[in-house]
Amino acid sequence: MRIAIIGTGYVGLVSGACFSDFGHDVVCVDRDAAKIGALEQGVMPIFEPGLDQLVARNVAAGRLGFTTELAEGVEGAEAIFIAVGTPSRRGDGHADLSYVYGVAREIGELLDGPTVVVTKSTVPVGTGDEVERILREVAPEASVSVVSNPEFLREGAAIADFKHPDRIVVGAEDERAIEVMREIYRPLYLNKAPLLFTSRRSAELTKYAANAFLATKITFINEMADLCEVVGGDVQDVARGIGLDGRIGSKFLHAGPGYGGSCFPKDTVALLKTAEDAQSPLRIVEAVVKVNDARKRAMGRKVLKALGDEPRGKIVALLGLAFKPNTDDMRDAPSIAIVQALEDAGVTVRGYDPESMEQARPIMPDVQLCRGPYEAAAGADAVVLVTEWDALRALDLDRLAASMRQKILVDLRNIYPPEEVEEAGFAWHGVGRPPRA
Ligand code: NAD
Repeated sequence: MRIAIIGTGYVGLVSGACFSDFGHDVVCVDRDAAKIGALEQGVMPIFEPGLDQLVARNVAAGRLGFTTELAEGVEGAEAIFIAVGTPSRRGDGHADLSYVYGVAREIGELLDGPTVVVTKSTVPVGTGDEVERILREVAPEASVSVVSNPEFLREGAAIADFKHPDRIVVGAEDERAIEVMREIYRPLYLNKAPLLFTSRRSAELTKYAANAFLATKITFINEMADLCEVVGGDVQDVARGIGLDGRIGSKFLHAGPGYGGSCFPKDTVALLKTAEDAQSPLRIVEAVVKVNDARKRAMGRKVLKALGDEPRGKIVALLGLAFKPNTDDMRDAPSIAIVQALEDAGVTVRGYDPESMEQARPIMPDVQLCRGPYEAAAGADAVVLVTEWDALRALDLDRLAASMRQKILVDLRNIYPPEEVEEAGFAWHGVGRPPRA
């Protein structure tokens, strides 16, 4: 099938590459000429494990192409996926739908044969209705169906998630659209991935409900971690103890510095705006957003407390800057709030991340970016493990300690056993575990 993907970011590029790998003919469109130019040279605009080979393989097979020209991309396409960004609208937190609606208008002017327009971007309930209204206004004669097909992939594991999804949610209102979507996902359907057909509105809501629920789980265990620290429990044990209950599940129960990234922060806030407009409050999600915002600042204070009475003039090395491992995405990363809190207190901050340094540079211009964890730690007063990259999970603690001015380790991911950290001469600080005697 001939497919066009509009918006070649994380979701658009991964979806396009995977659809072409299924055997479909895919053109990825983006208005960012530098991005398309790089892709045409085989250079990936994002770090995502395995993506470069997947793209190269399908470009070589003639099934995947890139263009800045929308008309070229959509020509003859039976399905057009909209995968542009839906960031928080400045000022009020509503999802900014101007890119989605802009693309709908442009597509409308180009429709030729029967087409299914699929919204893959995360969009508030009712957006599909407006996309359909725009298309009917611009192209009253066109035969077009509008479908919602939210994406659940995780950055860092995007290809595996796309190819082996827990489920595919399709919100479609007519038979032809359902048939086209079945055809597109047939290779996954054969793999027994559940293809869930719903109304368009239910599909749109499902995406927000999923993200809000996961954000709630993370925030729940983070608050339990705080309680553990005060009353003397170990959140790792509590998390395992509840996670083994099949009704709860062990995923997303790792206490840490709070959720960040390109999705949870903006999607939880956008969902609250939908709820507010509908006068149907989501009080649990309201609490989650507040608690998580406060937590990021609290992590900065935790590091300052570990530094002692006078943090001014001290040096702190942050290890891991991206919002999670295996991505270079810095959007709403907890490291940003931690850097802010430390710099406000007069601390000099150094940073290291295996992949996100280029993205981090403009966001944290005063942070001294280093080539590796040991370089970052040399002469520092404290090391803070912020993001649990594999490359940061097995540091030589003796070597790290030997070069430091003061030996303080703040492990915001509870990676290192406190005894080992202390054996290397560090003062240990973790998350949700009782202070060491
Ligand atoms: P992104 O910012 O990485 O990519 C969006 C792309 O769209 C950019 O390259 C931009 O240049 C392009 N674009 C914007 N307007 C355009 C236009 N008129 N024509 C052509 N291209 C245009 O965004 P992303 O992270 O891929 O997210 C896209 C959507 O998917 C969002 O709604 C997001 O919430 C959702 N989503 C993201 C993830 C994730 O992990 N990143 C996961 C699931 C869902």
